[in-house]
Amino acid sequence: MKDYLVRGIVESKNCRVFACQTTELLEVARKKHGLWPTASAALGRMMSATLMMGAMNKNHEKMTITINGGGPIGSMIASTNSDGKIKAFVANPEVHYTYNDTGKLAVGVAVGKEGTLQVIKDMGLKEPFVGTVPLKSGEIGDDFSYYFMVSEQIPSVVSLGVLVNDTNEILSSGGFIIQLLPDASEEDIEYIENKMKDFPAVSSLIHEGKTPEDILKMLFDDVDILESQDLAFECDCSKDKMSGALMTVGKDEIQAMIDEDHGCEMRCHFCNTAYQFSEDELKELLKQMK
Ligand SMILES: [Zn+2]
Repeated sequence: MKDYLVRGIVESKNCRVFACQTTELLEVARKKHGLWPTASAALGRMMSATLMMGAMNKNHEKMTITINGGGPIGSMIASTNSDGKIKAFVANPEVHYTYNDTGKLAVGVAVGKEGTLQVIKDMGLKEPFVGTVPLKSGEIGDDFSYYFMVSEQIPSVVSLGVLVNDTNEILSSGGFIIQLLPDASEEDIEYIENKMKDFPAVSSLIHEGKTPEDILKMLFDDVDILESQDLAFECDCSKDKMSGALMTVGKDEIQAMIDEDHGCEMRCHFCNTAYQFSEDELKELLKQMK
């Protein structure tokens, strides 16, 4: 089934809601990056949250989110133009931990919690918006919830999940976000808290075949779905852009690549595509730099 997200509003409970399924795009990312299960879970949760945050941006702003919790996975970066397309990577994809008691993927252990979650939004102004908060647990959902509260002053429930099978393929990935509007009352908050107490794991719901709309209806039977958006893992890198990046390393470096290696390979972090530059192509770049 195709990945997509929906955005809606619940007038009776004074909140806005988002839900997405990202199973296919996480499988694409898993194959490109060779993600081990806990790395898949961490990156899947992060991409779901990033895409839903993108749906909050009205003007298709470019948004880049970085999480670095000091854990074995290293830095995680996800970037979207708020158009449903996302690219993302983790520094170390070969990470796998489970919790002893539950056997669940130990995302918090892989990510760590000694660090920050940073959001950069480029709204076409001189200075981009930058919001940074300390990590709460490294489990990603809690961390985004804390970000919304501290950096945007919006009380939010963020629920994210990923299921992986025995051969490491992605069975399900997705999540939902509930955000209180300024008019929310104590009763509205109480309703949401009660609802969350015994609400099933979002990864299980998606695995059972529940759609993002189904999940929102389980939460609020009178939810009004306003919009839906297709989602995909898609990188915008190209050999041209790589040439540009290569030129920034400087003439001496490029000369060394010509003399010593007779060419070079540049790899895009976001999608792991390798671009080969021959000796002649490097010489051509040097000419352009003069
Ligand atoms: Zn790329």
